Amino acid sequence: MHRNPKYILAIDHGTTSTRAVLFDHDRHIVSIARKEGSVFYPEPGWVEQDAESIWLDTIAVMAEVLHKARLQPDQVAAIGISNQRETTVLWDRRTGLPVHNAIVWQSRQTSDICDRWKEQGYEDEVREKTGLRIDPYFSASKIAWLLENVPGVREQAENGDLLFGTMDTWLVWKLTGGDRHITDVSNASRTLLCDIGKLAWDEDLLKKFDIPRQILPEIVPTSQVYGSTAPYMFFGSQVPICSMVGDQQAALFGQLCLEKGMAKNTYGTGGFLLMNTGNEIVRSKNGLLSTVAWKIGDEVTYALEGSVFVSGSIMKWMRDELQLFEDVKETAQMAERAATTAGVYILPAFVGLGAPYWDDKAKAAIVGLTLGTGRDQLVRAALESMAYQVRDVLNAMEADAGIPIQVLKVDGGAAANDFLLQFQSDLCQLEVDRFKVNELTALGAAFLAGLAIGFWKREDLDIEVRRRFIPGRSKEEMDSRYQDWQQAVNACQAFKP
Ligand code: ADP
Repeated sequence: MHRNPKYILAIDHGTTSTRAVLFDHDRHIVSIARKEGSVFYPEPGWVEQDAESIWLDTIAVMAEVLHKARLQPDQVAAIGISNQRETTVLWDRRTGLPVHNAIVWQSRQTSDICDRWKEQGYEDEVREKTGLRIDPYFSASKIAWLLENVPGVREQAENGDLLFGTMDTWLVWKLTGGDRHITDVSNASRTLLCDIGKLAWDEDLLKKFDIPRQILPEIVPTSQVYGSTAPYMFFGSQVPICSMVGDQQAALFGQLCLEKGMAKNTYGTGGFLLMNTGNEIVRSKNGLLSTVAWKIGDEVTYALEGSVFVSGSIMKWMRDELQLFEDVKETAQMAERAATTAGVYILPAFVGLGAPYWDDKAKAAIVGLTLGTGRDQLVRAALESMAYQVRDVLNAMEADAGIPIQVLKVDGGAAANDFLLQFQSDLCQLEVDRFKVNELTALGAAFLAGLAIGFWKREDLDIEVRRRFIPGRSKEEMDSRYQDWQQAVNACQAFKP
């Protein structure tokens, strides 16, 4: 027997943390549970995570979120999943154990493989079919790396003993007790293996990259009843799993950028500006990616994307490695106290540069230091770097789409930082809107799951603006700062030891 009322459970597995968020029918958050995960840096530029720990964190946050809300598992009407994209795991289909750490989207360990593919002349075909470019960022070279470098893996894969997944696939496979090996179109479009026009794996690219077809999951729509939790994986209950969506596409949906031309920026571990381009694949001439936003029923929506590899994670580095502060919450005040960076610029190319530069060999740098530079200035320069990178991709987006962006809707962990959003508004001379709910990625996954079972209808979807930041400084001043930033980028890109 079901108890009422019912709720939607969103699992938002990000790079920094895994969260479970329960929404009621009025779209209010009933409770949240969060666990920060471990990240390993085995060699310079390499980034890995333990997929098994990600699964265990997921169970832990699901249990905690239900407990906090005093709800029973059968009060969950549907589960929706949003996930860090591209991150790649291979596991044994019988034991369910990963053969190696998951290789994280930020990792540069497959740079040589990508160079090889570029030399072999695959770039044009890749762009045409996948909307992406050959870069370690995407899953294909990560799969190739595992096949080439982990002993026995190539053979196991050829024999059909291994399965590949991005984190959506991994979590759904676990939740369904190994019943469903699937990925949605938004995640598939990030692998470098999916033809985004056909929404199918591309046999020719698979052959070129030497990746066995049988390890790949089935591609499914973004909002649909895919199956149910195995009772032993979800506290004795069979609950339908109804959305799987890449975190950036989830945030675009959660921000209700449902019409062509609407855009959002997320300041998370990385920074991601996405614009809905409707049912049309817009090809970028300015270093952006074309990607699938979602597929609902038979309707496919595409997006243009500017992916910045390091955004909020520079603050994590300043906290954990430089110990400049204890809590990221202090940083807005530190930046205000500095008043200016006094000419200091930080280029956070810790894992190379993504859009619009695409330089996988670039290294991070701090320029313009003097003996007067202190902690506050460095923190301010780091926050400003997040905003400069947004201006870089915003310029490219406006040029590609031919539509000026009027209002920038923002979310993600670092969007809580008032200094950052005010500086962003000044720098781009744009209104910046922050919403009342900051869990827009989770909300996007919840909306998509709720739509699949009729818990919500399209007209029920709504979000409330909490604060609008309005430009407070002159365009001339900010343009001149932006020119200095561009000089700093050029200087850092020129440094290739
Ligand atoms: P993800 O979804 O990628 O795991 P989140 O959206 O949760 O990331 O954002 C977390 C990131 O944002 C972390 O890297 C953290 O350093 C940064 N962050 C969180 N709060 C703040 C803040 N108030 N100011 C600046 N950065 C912040």
